[in-house]
Amino acid sequence: MAEPVPTFVSHLECSATGAAYPADTVQGLSDAGKPLLVRYDLPALGAAVTRADVAAAPDPGFWRYAPLLPVRKAANRLSLGEVTTPLVPLPRRGAKLLVKDEGRLPTGSFKARGLALGVSMAKELGLEHLAMPTNGNAGAAMAAYAARGGLRATVFCPADTPEINVREIALQGAETYRVDGLIHDCGKLVGAGKAEQGWFDLSTLKEPYRIEGKKTMGIELVEQLGWRLPEAIFYPTGGGTGLIGMWKAFRELRELGWLSGPLPRMVAVQAAGCAPIVRAWENGETHAPLWENAHTVAAGIRVPVAVGDFMILDAVRESGGWAEAVDDAEILAERDRIASEDGLLLCPEGAATFAAWRRAVAAGRLAHDAEAVLFNCATGLKYPMPDLARPWPAGDGTAGG
Ligand SMILES: *Cc1c(COP(=O)(O)O)cnc(C)c1O
Repeated sequence: MAEPVPTFVSHLECSATGAAYPADTVQGLSDAGKPLLVRYDLPALGAAVTRADVAAAPDPGFWRYAPLLPVRKAANRLSLGEVTTPLVPLPRRGAKLLVKDEGRLPTGSFKARGLALGVSMAKELGLEHLAMPTNGNAGAAMAAYAARGGLRATVFCPADTPEINVREIALQGAETYRVDGLIHDCGKLVGAGKAEQGWFDLSTLKEPYRIEGKKTMGIELVEQLGWRLPEAIFYPTGGGTGLIGMWKAFRELRELGWLSGPLPRMVAVQAAGCAPIVRAWENGETHAPLWENAHTVAAGIRVPVAVGDFMILDAVRESGGWAEAVDDAEILAERDRIASEDGLLLCPEGAATFAAWRRAVAAGRLAHDAEAVLFNCATGLKYPMPDLARPWPAGDGTAGG
């Protein structure tokens, strides 16, 4: 028998009311219909584990943060070869501009972090059949980790989800359905079917553990920078789990005394065709109502309504950050430019963060040489690319130039 991993979870807490719920039992949303957050006994954690212990753990990827995560039994930690994702500088753009390239993770996106935790906890709690709506990357990560853990998976995708995502999800063993609608329509199908089908709903923030996986982006960034943070973080925001998760990580690390210096300004980046958080931020609202007729090439951030909207807006405001929308033409132009001139093929969502950084510098919101981290959340290889090659021979005498 594997030894239980020391973990310091004390309870779950409703993100809206603060009401406490027991850990180690299956939980979805709180009674108030809001996300539940995992709380830890941080004094006990700090007394038992140091940041040097964590940094020295043998796992190359996020499982080395196991003491700050909820999975108790090592045997339940599902792994597909996670790595520490690199901080790739873009020195020709900004002196201290770094891209955290999450496309290097299993299944080619940072959804691996959240789903590795979500599926591992589902396994630990004895769940057998998981379901979720997806714009592509989350479904792929759930399918892969569920296959690894021997759990069943059912996935609903909007019909116009990038084809490569739909195929990879199905190939990795999930029952996969194309739906005539957007992600929140797919979410309704999961909600409607779960009682009858016995599915557990692994939708963004509808269970407490995916966010704990996304939290590891924040811990990893802090560790990589020498236990401190940059001046600003640009995050492509859909459901916002990553932004909320990193903010949670920073507060926990600060409470542990593992983090020195100020917290960063958190910048929520959205596409102009689907910008509910930007609109709510600009209007000074606490919640972000549904965005009608959402459309953008950046499929990962095409989320018209987010259950964690108030937490995204809180983190952005509390950090002195802002929210910015960029349009698809700008996203693709930046993607193409960074690929051809800097040799880094970003996903459209990642390119959106660069566009937002450039705007912020042009508007004087952020110094050109301020240390800033952009999140490239998936490999650019998963998205349609322009066909720039020419036939050989060209047949008109111009080839070979
Ligand atoms: C899911 C996803 C996002 C949005 O992440 P959230 O944390 O849910 O806001 C951004 N980019 C890509 C590539 C994604 O797959």
